[in-house]
Amino acid sequence: MIYIHIPFCHSKCTYCAFHSRPVSRAGVSPYAQYVDALIEEMRQRKGEQAHPIRTVYFGGGTPSILPLNELERIVRALHECFDLSQVEECTLEGNPEDLTADYLRGLRGMGLVNRLSIGIQSLDDDMLRLIGRRHTAAQALAAVEEAHRAAFHNLSVDFIYGLPGNSRFSSLDFRLVSHVSSYALTVEPTTALARQVEQGRVALPDEDELVRQYYDMCNLLENNGLFQYEVSNFARPGFLSRHNSRYWDRTPYLGLGPSAHSFDGYRRRWNSAMAAGNGTWRVEDEETLTAADACNELLMTSLRTTAGLHVNQVPEAYRSQVVRKMQRYLECRWIVAEEDCYRPTREGLLYADGMAAALFVS
Ligand code: SF4
Repeated sequence: MIYIHIPFCHSKCTYCAFHSRPVSRAGVSPYAQYVDALIEEMRQRKGEQAHPIRTVYFGGGTPSILPLNELERIVRALHECFDLSQVEECTLEGNPEDLTADYLRGLRGMGLVNRLSIGIQSLDDDMLRLIGRRHTAAQALAAVEEAHRAAFHNLSVDFIYGLPGNSRFSSLDFRLVSHVSSYALTVEPTTALARQVEQGRVALPDEDELVRQYYDMCNLLENNGLFQYEVSNFARPGFLSRHNSRYWDRTPYLGLGPSAHSFDGYRRRWNSAMAAGNGTWRVEDEETLTAADACNELLMTSLRTTAGLHVNQVPEAYRSQVVRKMQRYLECRWIVAEEDCYRPTREGLLYADGMAAALFVS
């Protein structure tokens, strides 16, 4: 699988700690130069992708900020450098303000992208303004309708919960979406939101309210036919994100663009951020996973999914200690045991990261 990072946004959202660079509309467009560098990286690293490519993912940043002709150049270079004949799913992340009817038709016409992930986040205009999003609720609803009209039936939307107020998610026509990613708002230390909270300008819900919003979200989505398969992901049957599911299965992937990570089954490599002057990046560092690291990654990813952890996936050397430590989570019903599988309950999913960390082996 291939991940392509597009590190540009129209402006910076207050909560965002991703690697992205705001692009002023008045300035010189950086896209052509960026796409040149991305294509060069593809040519240099194409030999690293030894496994069949079944998914491609354009993430960001805001991939939909790219003009169609630049996206088309990337798609053409992908076809030149890689065998895409087995690709089942190609996702592009987009923001509502970019997804006009013309843009969506052009995107569909390129032939590779067959899944969209739209960053809606909230359907309340005050809330959207508060977190620095540039779109309105009306634009978000229109983007979903336009995407459907352009035959993007594999359509995901992103929601954020844990905002201070009602995000009015129920105003979405859920029949048009097949997948929802719903994330709890986290306050990352270097963001504008962190400063606003520190200065008392924004008050976020407490832990109890956050938990209530999590359950409300799960109920809303299930009542609309979308079932939880991971802490933050809900889908109709047959529409689970294949790309993300493969990360959790530890399938090897190639990450292209600044700050992108790659994994070959044993070794992780990561690219540097984009240099300020010449806009370039390079493979910055790598680490080879030990058997214990690989086991801990398995615990971390599988306990976040409703599929859970199969005991025989745990290497034999660590199995007895994981089974022993798991006992306390069975007793408090954060985990249920079914045959040889440990599955987190809905409550357990809320605490999946802490649980996995407590089970780590060394
Ligand atoms: S659009 Fe996404 S990547 Fe860009 S600043 Fe906002 S949250 Fe960050």
